Amino acid sequence: MAKTTIVAFCALVVILGFNTGCKKFEKQGQLQDPGIVLTFDDNMVDNWYSYLPLLDSAGVKATFYICKYNRFTNDQKRKLQEIKKHGHEIAFHTTNHYNMEDYVYKQKHTIDDLMRCEVEAGLKLMNQDGFYPTTFAYPYGAHNGVFDKMLLRYFKSVRALNGTQDYSKSIVPTEKNNLLYGLGIDKSSRRSDQDINSVMESAKDNRACVIFVAHDINTASKYATTLHRLMQILNFAKKHNLKYYTVSEISG
Ligand SMILES: [Zn+2]
Repeated sequence: MAKTTIVAFCALVVILGFNTGCKKFEKQGQLQDPGIVLTFDDNMVDNWYSYLPLLDSAGVKATFYICKYNRFTNDQKRKLQEIKKHGHEIAFHTTNHYNMEDYVYKQKHTIDDLMRCEVEAGLKLMNQDGFYPTTFAYPYGAHNGVFDKMLLRYFKSVRALNGTQDYSKSIVPTEKNNLLYGLGIDKSSRRSDQDINSVMESAKDNRACVIFVAHDINTASKYATTLHRLMQILNFAKKHNLKYYTVSEISG
């Protein structure tokens, strides 16, 4: 009887030990950490490049959704390579930055035209220079279920915009996302510091991550994020130990 009890006890210890080990391992896995996905859209490569030292110093790994790559100069292509080398993700934002819904439903192009011209043609140019985007963002956030389905044949995820006051739409699990709604942090978004802090708090408390969208950094454009806003996010992340995820890391 005693022997049986000892054997059972040992088995329990082994099982508990094993489980504890597994759980501990999972918790230490990077994808379990709450975090921030910082995304920048369009073609402001010169501007982004000038802020690489700041992003590096804060340990940021951001995602740059690129459009109009066919108009990049050789110097801009070199800068984009450099951004990639610093650990950032180079993602895709169409060939010409057309509103895709207008392109199909107002201008009466077919979805095949859309995919061929606005996706495949631009991707091919980037591929030729060694960029292989695996995630996609819609110009102007204009999307629908048909486009999502088509684009998910090419990409691991598609990102639209969160134009609502429901910030929880922009807080997602740290893995296996297909459809993301980024929260704008540009001047044009008119969000307060408090709004941005509370959405980051929420991501932290839920062990999830928040998706932010910006364009250029600290320029006069209304589509730029201010340095103040960027520093607010970087400082919050540092203080609360939030991890920076690229979009491809949380997609799948
Ligand atoms: Zn854009």
